[in-house]
Amino acid sequence: MPKAGIITVVGKPNAGKSTLLNRIVGEKLSIVSPKPQSTRNRIVGINTTADAQMILLDTPGLLNPKYALQETMRRAALAAIYEADVVLYLVDGVEGTVPSLVDVAQLDRPIAAPIVLAINKVDALTHGQKEALAERAPDALFVSATTGDGIDALLSRLSALLPESAFLYPDDEISTQTVRFFASELVRETALEQLDDEVPYSIACEIEEFRESQSPVYIRAVLHVERDSQKQILIGAGGQRVRSIGRAAREKIEAFLGARVYLDLWVKVLPNWRRNTHALQRFGYSLPEDRSQ
Ligand code: GDP
Ligand code: MG
Repeated sequence: MPKAGIITVVGKPNAGKSTLLNRIVGEKLSIVSPKPQSTRNRIVGINTTADAQMILLDTPGLLNPKYALQETMRRAALAAIYEADVVLYLVDGVEGTVPSLVDVAQLDRPIAAPIVLAINKVDALTHGQKEALAERAPDALFVSATTGDGIDALLSRLSALLPESAFLYPDDEISTQTVRFFASELVRETALEQLDDEVPYSIACEIEEFRESQSPVYIRAVLHVERDSQKQILIGAGGQRVRSIGRAAREKIEAFLGARVYLDLWVKVLPNWRRNTHALQRFGYSLPEDRSQ
């Protein structure tokens, strides 16, 4: 009997979750068309081997519910934790401590699923640092998402813990809706890479048009910010920054789609969108029940 199930990856920002997920999913990235819309933001890919299928969920960060967006992100992260068959808890080894997941996530009830602890960035640790961590967390696996060190052992441990089940998804199902979502994430990610820390959570990306049938693929994307000052930052002197973001994002989307892309990128101000339920829904954030109408 094959094994299949949901593996939710959690960890503090900067622990290396995205790097690890990219490595695990790698070129086998097969995008799912998730039936329940609420999981749209979280399924990052599937790793299917001969006898196991891992459906990987990302957690958008365990932040304090201070702003509406952060609250919805937290809810999504918690939902992903509680519906997991296995939780992969990733810790940045360079920090030198292994805080308990329950503390970090401020959980109010225990996680039923088995938790696999992986200490990342082992490539950046001295022998002594590694020893000290191993003493503190004897069950931890040491990995490097960057070099790939320890990843095979990690995947074996994860798949061993999955329930016996037929595969849940075909290996190569791709949905345009999700491709659109990934494209918007790539644009947003690129914008964040090229900006200082002051704007991040104020940026949402919306794909207004996505014409795959033509070559190059035509994509019109809008970066929404909350204030005019942020719009100026994003556009940069003489439009230099938005052009640079557009160029880098286009290259990523081309690599992702395997096709040439024309990316038509705009910046618009949508005042206080983070506190606007309607806008949050439009940008694909799931909302707590009591705020959704
Ligand atoms: P996330 O916030 O948890 O998604 O973390 P990212 O995947 O964005 O990684 C945060 C930073 O840590 C980036 O600069 C990565 O290049 C770096 N990083 C991730 N994994 C490793 C690793 O295994 N070794 C080292 N040295 N750096 C890593
Ligand atoms: Mg990340």
